[in-house]
Amino acid sequence: MTDKTYQPLKIFNTLTRKKDLFVPLAAPYVGMYVCGPTVYNNVHLGNIRTFLSFDILYRYLTHIGYKVRYVRNITDVGHLVGDGDEGEDKIGKMAKLQQLEPMEIVQRYTNDFHDVSAEFNLRPPSIEPTATGHLIEQIEAVTALIEKGAAYESNGSVYFDIAKYNDAGNEYGKLSGRIIEDLLNETRDLDGQSEKRNPLDFALWKKASPEHIMQWDSPWGMGFPGWHLECTCMSAKYLGKQFDIHGGGMDLKFPHHECEIAQARALTNIEPVRYWMHTNMLTVNGQKMSKSLNNSFLPSQLFSGDHELLDQAYSPMTVRFFMLQSQYRSTLDFSNDALKAAQKGYKRLANGMRLAKMLKYSDEEVARDDKKIEDIEKSVQGFYDAMNDDLNTSVAIANLFNMLKYINMLNMNQVKSAALGEATFTSLLENFIVFIENVLGLKEELSEGHAVLDGMLNLYREYKAVQNYEKVDEIRTYFKLQGLAIRDSKLRVDWAYEE
Ligand SMILES: [Zn+2]
Repeated sequence: MTDKTYQPLKIFNTLTRKKDLFVPLAAPYVGMYVCGPTVYNNVHLGNIRTFLSFDILYRYLTHIGYKVRYVRNITDVGHLVGDGDEGEDKIGKMAKLQQLEPMEIVQRYTNDFHDVSAEFNLRPPSIEPTATGHLIEQIEAVTALIEKGAAYESNGSVYFDIAKYNDAGNEYGKLSGRIIEDLLNETRDLDGQSEKRNPLDFALWKKASPEHIMQWDSPWGMGFPGWHLECTCMSAKYLGKQFDIHGGGMDLKFPHHECEIAQARALTNIEPVRYWMHTNMLTVNGQKMSKSLNNSFLPSQLFSGDHELLDQAYSPMTVRFFMLQSQYRSTLDFSNDALKAAQKGYKRLANGMRLAKMLKYSDEEVARDDKKIEDIEKSVQGFYDAMNDDLNTSVAIANLFNMLKYINMLNMNQVKSAALGEATFTSLLENFIVFIENVLGLKEELSEGHAVLDGMLNLYREYKAVQNYEKVDEIRTYFKLQGLAIRDSKLRVDWAYEE
């Protein structure tokens, strides 16, 4: 029988461009850092796919016995509109637009991100640090980089010196495969470029203009940190100068992750990350998902079906299952047909899960069916083999469906439990449940018409009408403990299963 502990997991490492065997620096501990969202608007599906992929990695590493410290930050300052050194701060811009405090914007969209993450059953990280909560660390890092000669001050801003970095034997561009000469040719003449020694130099600290709303005092005057710096400081603080895994969306490879490596190496002379992982993009009906093409929808629109490209509503677990049907490094195409197929597939698995929790072994006089026993054990091992192959959830799910076939046969009495033997019978049911619930993070969704919940919801509406907020909060907490949320006085339970 399969021993799950410390499975030989292979991870595609962007740095080496091949699948490397995962060997943690200090097993059983694993340090993992993932770039979190910039909280200036509602979290989009592309982000969710990235966080789901690392949720699967987090769950799988935990499942096979590692103790994982998972750090995922919240970017609440410094990420500029152009993703580089120019333009307004994304959060500052939205604050002006909505006439709110920047920290209100940050809170609003952090809450949205947490709500949506909970709907998708993403496990919260171990630590969720914010950029504004680590300004001291960032100012210290800039000071150290200047002292080491790796950065220079210019007109109240501080820039990282790429030429010096490369002269010291480093290779800027090694992660993303970018060539310095090509990058120079692509450089446009933008704001702040005249302050730089080399157009490729990037900001560690930016001088703030008087109208810039988010700014702090520093040895170089009033300003704010560059976007790339927070991840270097926070990963080093919580995971050490070198740690196991760093992840993010493919679009972060350059410049963000390239700059993180440069900052860390210039500070410590140590390669900061051993395994770099990047998730692929989403497409809709074969086209890149983008606001300008009007084909991007929010998670909430998927759940309500309220978008011109959507035929119907899809539940969070349907979408989760749908995303897991593709391995994280392949593109994932959203279409109604594919989502409807996923809805059917997920219902079959969910039904199987209910059966697996009910079926009992009965010791009857029947012949052992060695062929079936072998096939079941192959499927269990097949699930691990697929996960070990760079988290190939697509193949892992195919193995689950093979296990489901036997669960359905047991339920229909087409095969007797005793024909499988108690060990294989138990392994089939237990692994089926653990793979679905713990590793893939798929949970049962409630169907409508649950009497107790309906009663509580009615009470909630009544208390709300008479403004008894103490009671309202009590009921809200009750629902929260059940993993439910109230939106617009409706419980999010409207994805009933068809039996
Ligand atoms: Zn980052």
